[in-house]
Amino acid sequence: MKIAKLEAIILEVEVKNPASDALHTYDAGRTVVTRIFTDEGIVGYATTHIGRGKPTADILKMLLEKELAPIIIGEDPFFTRQIRKKLWGVADYHGVEGLAHFGVSAIDIALWDIVGKAMNLPTAKVLGACRDRIPAYSMAGWYYGGEKDFIVRCLAVAEEGFKAIKLKVGRYSLEDDIQRIKAVQKELGTAFPIMVDANQGFDEREAIKRGRAYQELGIRWLEEPLIPQHKENSARLVQALDIPIAIGENFYSKHQFYDAVKAGAASVYQPDNRRAGGPTEWLEIGAITDAAGLHIASHGGGPANVNMLCAIPNAIYLESGSLKHENDMMATQLQMVDGEVLLPDTPGMGTEVRSDFIKAHRVD
Ligand SMILES: [Mg+2]
Repeated sequence: MKIAKLEAIILEVEVKNPASDALHTYDAGRTVVTRIFTDEGIVGYATTHIGRGKPTADILKMLLEKELAPIIIGEDPFFTRQIRKKLWGVADYHGVEGLAHFGVSAIDIALWDIVGKAMNLPTAKVLGACRDRIPAYSMAGWYYGGEKDFIVRCLAVAEEGFKAIKLKVGRYSLEDDIQRIKAVQKELGTAFPIMVDANQGFDEREAIKRGRAYQELGIRWLEEPLIPQHKENSARLVQALDIPIAIGENFYSKHQFYDAVKAGAASVYQPDNRRAGGPTEWLEIGAITDAAGLHIASHGGGPANVNMLCAIPNAIYLESGSLKHENDMMATQLQMVDGEVLLPDTPGMGTEVRSDFIKAHRVD
């Protein structure tokens, strides 16, 4: 089998009620769909969501089609590690990390979609599955227009069946954080697992101060308190606090995970399949963190993340939005049973996008 063509298309969905975290507002609503066609008729898919900065999607499309596609045309899609090496070789001149790795990751996911489809198996089984379902939490607790909206959305995902929720913190005062946490605990009980995410909003001193307050409230983990570059500062948080520190959504490739693990920067690592890489890189990130006795949770949901988490022994959680919403564009619909999302039996990564959705939302 040979790769015949790569196509990157941009979809756009209007964001009616933009959600915010401590520092950012997500209003772009764009997705780059990467399609890799083979000479045997199998087509591999990857989706790259762009939450902020609409032009990012245009740049990624150009990078995929003009720079990376010519490298892979004519290659055997089963040679995922060889293809990754060639892509690193061409992206190396301007830097592999950053947007170039969005491209490398999308290609790797689409290749593993082809591999799974060729073998007529979900990719997790081709990779060597260790489970067929993964506990999921919902990231429902963003900053919306008003407090009422926030509680309504948190209760809706609990009603839907999620057995853990993540709340954004750090946009305002510590008192505001505590009020948000207690408002959810009042509705769902103090035993209901809650994670908090500061999205890089603190410095080390502030993270220690707020971390102590979160651990008093029984919070499951404190996510991304610092900028991703501050791995040694993060290691000092691990020493100073009892609450687990979770980081990694802004790390590119196994090398940044390796540096963080060496520094002792966290207990939970959260690869993002746009930035960290595809299954090829995830298996290696899984191995590095597993060897160090640490855990993996995805940054982001959908069938691609479910396939990767089901193949990583130290995975503990899938991040997800409401499945009603997450399933909108995908041909494969995820199912949740008792708070766990099931590995879909769709051959491949489950990343195929519905053709009617593409038709309705394609802008380039
Ligand atoms: Mg986060």
